[in-house]
Amino acid sequence: MNYQVNENGFYGTFGGAYIPEILHGCVENLRNNYLQIMDSEDFKQEYDQLLQDYVGRPSPLYLAQRLSEQCGCNIYLKREDLNHTGAHKINNTIGQILLARRMGKRRIIAETGAGQHGVATATVCALMNMECIVYMGKTDVERQHVNVQKMQMLGATVRPVTSGNMTLKDATNEAIRDWCCHPSDTFYIIGSTVGPHPYPDMVARMQSVISREIKKQLAEKIGRDYPDYLLACVGGGSNAAGTIYHYLDNDKVKIVLAEAGGKGIDTGMSAATIQLGKLGVIHGSKTLVMQNEDGQIEEPYSISAGLDYPGIGPMHANLAATKRAAVLAINDDEALEAAFNLTRIEGIIPALESAHALGALKKLKFSPTDVVVLTVSGRGDKDMDTYINSIKK
Ligand SMILES: *Cc1c(COP(=O)(O)O)cnc(C)c1O
Repeated sequence: MNYQVNENGFYGTFGGAYIPEILHGCVENLRNNYLQIMDSEDFKQEYDQLLQDYVGRPSPLYLAQRLSEQCGCNIYLKREDLNHTGAHKINNTIGQILLARRMGKRRIIAETGAGQHGVATATVCALMNMECIVYMGKTDVERQHVNVQKMQMLGATVRPVTSGNMTLKDATNEAIRDWCCHPSDTFYIIGSTVGPHPYPDMVARMQSVISREIKKQLAEKIGRDYPDYLLACVGGGSNAAGTIYHYLDNDKVKIVLAEAGGKGIDTGMSAATIQLGKLGVIHGSKTLVMQNEDGQIEEPYSISAGLDYPGIGPMHANLAATKRAAVLAINDDEALEAAFNLTRIEGIIPALESAHALGALKKLKFSPTDVVVLTVSGRGDKDMDTYINSIKK
């Protein structure tokens, strides 16, 4: 079984590039160049140097002793929360901006929901002196005020989007519209393993530094370069893709993906796309999509703004369909409980997204010798209001 993308841009039946004619040339150009550029010595050197000195990689692989005792196994946390800007997203935006420069693009656009990808994009645009326009639903602009201020301080233009529900899906539509108007000078930095081919593969490769490091770090710590379990949360799928990338073909490694159950998958307020979605096309990719009977996209819900995406990366849809990965829906209250637990026993305040991966621990049966690697995709600073309000209730 091959879990990587094929030459047509598909993972099994998922993926492809369903894009307007006007974008065909620029997506084709990217597709013809991304591998060659990413494999060049010049790119690798600049990218690796920035990952090390600017992002602070390698991120630690930390044996969480008290959490391990609690779960009856050996749990290592991959600390993406310690990266510059507080999450894994910077691994991808640095890679894409280096690619954009090498392709002669001068203008960067991005979409953002919670604002985390917007901040990571604005950060690398400041670093590389590139124009940056971030599309963000008006509802999210109001909800995520601190991230909007950060983007503005970094020199980006934040364009509030007032169509639809004024959230991530609408921001993405607007970014694609902009791209259609400026295909020759603009590079669209997509924040997850979603969008038309080659984006899912490109983003997965840029995040694959996570599993490359896990292999090396595990070999040093336990004398074996693979764990029994890998756990990560999935919104679009990029931190999970990075976590599992170099282990996909190792069937000794069980993969568990945690998606956002919201208030429960049967409540109509959920973002559990893999369990609730049906085959459709979203943002240029054929994948599982939360949609009604007419094929209209349904607004997802999760307490965590980074997980409420109505689609899922085609790689992950295929991993679920082929049963290579087990997928668990973790509800808001389970994620909150897991976040407070980690904070109290390990002194680490995780992002609400990451708390969904932590919430999955309770649902699995481990044996005492099991080695579990769980990716903490980001830190919880941005979620403090939600955490504090949940105590008051
Ligand atoms: C954006 C985000 C996610 C979800 O995105 P993926 O592409 O699924 O990784 C998860 N955790 C954090 C901290 C995020 O900022």
